[in-house]
Amino acid sequence: MSQTMPEPLTITADVDERLLRVEWADGHRSVYAFEALRWACPCATCRGEWGRPGLLDATDRLTPEQTDLVDLRQVGRYAICPIWADGHSTGIFTYRALRDLCPCAECAGRGATSDERGV
Ligand SMILES: [Zn+2]
Ligand SMILES: [Zn+2]
Repeated sequence: MSQTMPEPLTITADVDERLLRVEWADGHRSVYAFEALRWACPCATCRGEWGRPGLLDATDRLTPEQTDLVDLRQVGRYAICPIWADGHSTGIFTYRALRDLCPCAECAGRGATSDERGV
């Protein structure tokens, strides 16, 4: 299994449908709900650090602002950083992480390595 970084050709935020669409260089297409992306936010605030629970561990519900994507920032050549309507902008999704998050049947059926939400 190669560990080359997946490369997105286009990343489009569909604000009306609240979906982020990614077209990958290998032809794969991924569609992420804004809300699912926010739940997957990998930053220390959301995830917790040093054994302390994060924001997302302390809640089972997000506000509309928290799941409203207002902008996407490119981080280097390997990641994107969503800017949320509540001002949160510290979650950096590498393309690898983003691709691993792909919710399509094909990717989901590939066997998730771990279920971080533990549900
Ligand atoms: Zn976060
Ligand atoms: Zn997929």
